[in-house]
Amino acid sequence: MTPLEILKKTYGYDAFRSVQAEVIDHIIAGGSAFLVMPTGGGKSLCYQIPSLCREGIGIIISPLIALMQDQIIAMQQIGVHAATINSSMSESAVSEVFASVRAGDLDMLYVAPERLLMPTFLNFLAEIKVALFAIDEAHCVSQWGHDFRPHYQALEVLAKRFPMVPRIALTATADTPTRNDIILRLGLQNGRTFITGFDRPNIHYEIAAKENTKKQILNFIKSKHHNDSGIIYCLSRKKTEETAQWLCDEGYQALPYHAGMNPQNRNHNQARFLREDGIIMVATIAFGMGIDKPDVRFVIHLSLPKNIEAYYQETGRAGRDGLPANALMIYGVGDLSQLRIFIDEGNSSQVQKRIEHQKLNSLIGLCETTSCRRQVLLQYFGDNCSPCNNCDACLKPAEVFDATIAAQKAISCVFRTQNRFGIVYLIDVLLGKANERMIGFGHDKVSTFGIGSEYNKSEWTSIYRQLIAKNLLQINAETNGLQITQAGHDFLKSKSQLFLRKFTERKAERRRKNATAWLDNANDFAARSLFDQLKAARTAVAKAQNLPPYVIFHDKTLLEMASKRPMSQDDFAQISGVGEVKIARYGEVFLEVIRKFDGG
Ligand code: ADP
Ligand code: ZN
Repeated sequence: MTPLEILKKTYGYDAFRSVQAEVIDHIIAGGSAFLVMPTGGGKSLCYQIPSLCREGIGIIISPLIALMQDQIIAMQQIGVHAATINSSMSESAVSEVFASVRAGDLDMLYVAPERLLMPTFLNFLAEIKVALFAIDEAHCVSQWGHDFRPHYQALEVLAKRFPMVPRIALTATADTPTRNDIILRLGLQNGRTFITGFDRPNIHYEIAAKENTKKQILNFIKSKHHNDSGIIYCLSRKKTEETAQWLCDEGYQALPYHAGMNPQNRNHNQARFLREDGIIMVATIAFGMGIDKPDVRFVIHLSLPKNIEAYYQETGRAGRDGLPANALMIYGVGDLSQLRIFIDEGNSSQVQKRIEHQKLNSLIGLCETTSCRRQVLLQYFGDNCSPCNNCDACLKPAEVFDATIAAQKAISCVFRTQNRFGIVYLIDVLLGKANERMIGFGHDKVSTFGIGSEYNKSEWTSIYRQLIAKNLLQINAETNGLQITQAGHDFLKSKSQLFLRKFTERKAERRRKNATAWLDNANDFAARSLFDQLKAARTAVAKAQNLPPYVIFHDKTLLEMASKRPMSQDDFAQISGVGEVKIARYGEVFLEVIRKFDGG
């Protein structure tokens, strides 16, 4: 079969996307490749189809067992033979898989790098026919990347030991230094590099200053995501538990997930998130890598992520199915100083720390930008776009004001109080609110005492945050106080003009935007109700096999069924995402729902 025939028959899709066809042909012809494509872009097909076309078995290297298992279940659903060997399996189960590989019964085998690198495993590979090596989440190879894993670096052995076997490295997030490093480390200099755009046009980005976090979360969920699956990221374990409990009290189905929980509870919560509809997972960043759930509709950050790559990867978990999704970040200055401290107190080398600080600066730039968020994000990865009209900055453009005098006052106040105090203290001085501590330091006598009454506390907070983002002030990691940078001194001396974003309390957005909004907008009550019935049928089918609903069919596929209403198997086969095996297994169940619906 040709790649296109496999795409149609096995996967049920009509056409390849972006560079898929090119990559697949290149690998089938024996070439190696490096592929950078955003989450949900369709990377998996780029090694799965060549594994099916080439002689031998495809070896897929992936960092997490959960990720492998998800993929294997999905493969089995479409009739492809895939298996894994990993540390959670018994010895006899492992020998069984080895035997099936020898017998040529498998198309693909998923392993973690630790397993692959075992001498016995490498020797085993030398005895069999390998179709290709796919190195998933390839940014783990690089120290420049955001999730470095030392075992990944040892994968350079593949190029040396198996020079004739094609290698394909894949990642969704890598800036330029990381990309170069991956190519070097994995010996891909002679392969081809494919970089598609990084954009995730279906995700709406919004970044808001912390005002009243709970109110902000409730507004967001109520107005846009009632009954949707979503992820809320917090920095601390305690915060995940508190937030999950609070959301439950508010009537939502929320579960905590963090590294401190016992593995049983954690896995249980993860399984519920995957298998049930409408669960909100409140998690530390320990959650999410390898979560392929396609219908996560929103991601909220309650604190700053580590850097832009991490932000992009974490928000990228929303809307993998291509339907509209929302990313909201709520941040305050406290997060910023906390992250600076984490970096400084970490075990990394000085060079590494400098990289991390720089990356954090770029993130602050994103938070405080007055131009399109997507432009800032894509520029970070070396891409360009015009204003997107699908981010808060585009839809509610920020007003700016001449902040020259305000900035001079704010910075002078830092200077008059000896570069040692935090924002709350500085604002008290500006507003002339003396307390004992301040009087003790004599700061009720400085020239900036009480000169800032034209703005209130929130406005001064916003001004200070923007001055930090513009690098006129910085947070001293030791004292946690603000200090003036060289640029800040230059600004005071030059008396140049400065514009900052106006502080406005954000109002809840009026426009509803969610995945099934088109059904509601079209007032297509019939399609809406058929869609709900198809979903119920899917849940029943999934439950009977103890599988997550989305491996049966994606929402997107059900939406298409609800609008096209196929009556025959032939019509059914035309729906995107319906391949031969799925027609045979589930066609009648879903056709029955549609026929009944139309009949009555
Ligand atoms: P990635 O690994 O890049 O995040 P996946 O490989 O998981 O993305 O693909 C994302 C979704 O898009 C999957 O549901 C996949 O089946 C679907 N998909 C991939 N290629 C195509 C295509 N050519 N046409 C339609 N859907 C596709
Ligand atoms: Zn925009």
